[in-house]
Amino acid sequence: MQRFFRHYDRFQVYQVKSLLDEAGIPCFVKNELVQGAIGEIPPMDSEPEVWLQDPSWAAKANQIVDAFKAEQAAISADNKNDWACRECGQISEYQFAICWQCQAPRSVVEE
Ligand SMILES: [Zn+2]
Repeated sequence: MQRFFRHYDRFQVYQVKSLLDEAGIPCFVKNELVQGAIGEIPPMDSEPEVWLQDPSWAAKANQIVDAFKAEQAAISADNKNDWACRECGQISEYQFAICWQCQAPRSVVEE
């Protein structure tokens, strides 16, 4: 067995786990039940981890995680773009969910 991935955000750990599951790579999550109080940062050694049953899957698993990380980075970069209102064309900053000029909800502009 081999520790493969760890992250303080258990959501990401489970995302990785389910991607590996989909790819048919045998794996399991450790430390999933160790959690401090809300708002408390758990110690490093209790972060949830994904382990591979068999280290020979590591190369394939790494490809999957690299793609996952690239996707995450793209999403967060995307969310930091200012956006143009589909109704009035007004440019709003990324943190606003509605157009400040006409209150239309933010929507993805198809290019
Ligand atoms: Zn607008």
